[in-house]
Amino acid sequence: MLSTEVLDRTVQELVDLLGKENVLTEMRHKVTRSASCSPFPVQRWKDHLPDIVVLPSTTEDVVGIVKIANKYKVPIVPRGGGSGLADGAVPLKHGIVIDIKKMNQILEIDEENMTVTVQTGINLLRLNEVLGKLGYWHPDDPAGYINATVGGRIGCSGLSLVGSGHGHTRDLVVSLKHVLPTGEVIHVGEGGGKKIRKSAVGYRLKDLFIGHQGTLGIATEAVLEIFPRPEAVFPAFFAFKSFEENYKAVYKLGTSGLKTLSALIMYDERKIEYLKRDDEAFIPLRDDDRSVICTVLYGTNAEVNEAKKVIFKIAKECGGRYLGQEMSEGDWASRHDRYHIPFHGRRADGQVVLLSWHCEDAAINYSELPRVKEKWHKIVNKYVEKHDGIFDNWGMFMYTANAYKPWGDYLVEIDIGVNELAMTEEIWQDWLKMKEEIAKVVVEHEGTISCCHGGTRPGDEEVVIYEELGPNGNYELMKKIKKLLDPNNIMNPNKYLLDNAYKEE
Ligand SMILES: Cc1cc2nc3c(=O)[nH]c(=O)nc-3n(C[C@H](O)[C@H](O)[C@H](O)COP(=O)(O)OP(=O)(O)OC[C@H]3O[C@@H](n4cnc5c(N)ncnc54)[C@H](O)[C@@H]3O)c2cc1C
Repeated sequence: MLSTEVLDRTVQELVDLLGKENVLTEMRHKVTRSASCSPFPVQRWKDHLPDIVVLPSTTEDVVGIVKIANKYKVPIVPRGGGSGLADGAVPLKHGIVIDIKKMNQILEIDEENMTVTVQTGINLLRLNEVLGKLGYWHPDDPAGYINATVGGRIGCSGLSLVGSGHGHTRDLVVSLKHVLPTGEVIHVGEGGGKKIRKSAVGYRLKDLFIGHQGTLGIATEAVLEIFPRPEAVFPAFFAFKSFEENYKAVYKLGTSGLKTLSALIMYDERKIEYLKRDDEAFIPLRDDDRSVICTVLYGTNAEVNEAKKVIFKIAKECGGRYLGQEMSEGDWASRHDRYHIPFHGRRADGQVVLLSWHCEDAAINYSELPRVKEKWHKIVNKYVEKHDGIFDNWGMFMYTANAYKPWGDYLVEIDIGVNELAMTEEIWQDWLKMKEEIAKVVVEHEGTISCCHGGTRPGDEEVVIYEELGPNGNYELMKKIKKLLDPNNIMNPNKYLLDNAYKEE
């Protein structure tokens, strides 16, 4: 926490800059910005309370805030929807939370060059409501779509569920305006262009400022890709008698050459068991349906009609049973709703308990999926058994993660029900151990510990730093960049354990 003197001076200067109504110090405003969606022991919520919450409206406001923070060496954490699952928006060291949600204006829709320029506090739902009226679409489509702001997507470098057809966040951001940790404003894209998608000039700095979890500054405006709204969207779900059949089918579908294939998602046996048991929205499957694949086509009517035939042929040859239009359209339509509310889990004796959702994610090559799946379930089941009714294994999804190509690597997710209210210190420590074990499996199989959420979570962060990024020299370079750009270590301090950059001389 800040000393009273520093706090008072900082608040006064922020009020002078932004007006009283945009500088919040009351407990109710701070509490709602102290956590994100990932589990945390409820009794420890005060650990990460911000001292001050500010609501800027412009890039100039953000510059002013950053300058004040540097003057008093107060930590700053940018926060969008707070739905990031790697605790990125959690103010580990208190200080100022910059809530960007008032920066939510659409600044330009350029139909000639197919871009939209926005302030980064806009959320994806609202952006697409406006674009939709004009016949366009910004296809960054995470399951957490409703909460996610453009800034949060940039902060996390997210995965879009339709990224295999349309690209992911990093591919859909053409350029961005960014406030550096010392308050200078830069605009990074391809070369010096704002709406140029390909340049051979200079360094590719845009990528440095996507996925840094707010450790290298704050994106205030972004130029984004827009697409014509697709004429046809066709989801088709197929059930298989085993995960092995599904796994072979996904390869054949992914490498079929269909340009309209925007997503392939596998549901493993455990996920199907969970859905049959608890998810009333899911249309019941037959007893021998053990694994499901979701295929989704986006394109013109003519393209999609032809592609459908290919999908049905391959799925049938591989042993898939079509689950029908109602189930397919219904489940695809609910992709943004899943897991927003506490679900129920079961204890071993069948008793229902209220649990909220958490997921561990990784990017894994296709060849490694079966072994990673087996190992992850073994780890999670061990802890579920130990803490019956507090953790529950809700199975795995595997999504194609390669941009514009539905093959090669997959976002692998294991969903875990957690009773946060019952999480004692001992259970919290076990939770961290479970995450660490899960992360180590990813390194063993040459994957990356997070495909879309980020590697800043307690539990797996150390594995990220010392086993994934350390051995290849990446962490050393990250520390140098951090110290160079943020000499006072004010931007989201100690995420990625980057306080290390300031300890060594
Ligand atoms: C139910 C559910 C489903 C989800 N499904 C997906 C999914 O399918 N794909 C996926 O990728 N993610 C998914 N997520 C995670 C989450 O929705 C995304 O990571 C999203 O990008 C977070 O946006 P946000 O605005 O909530 O970000 P926040 O949580 O507020 O912030 C995320 C990070 O970005 C930083 N940040 C915020 N704004 C800025 C800015 N302007 N400049 C720089 N850094 C900034 C923060 O400091 C933090 O480190 C899901 C989450 C939930 C709860």
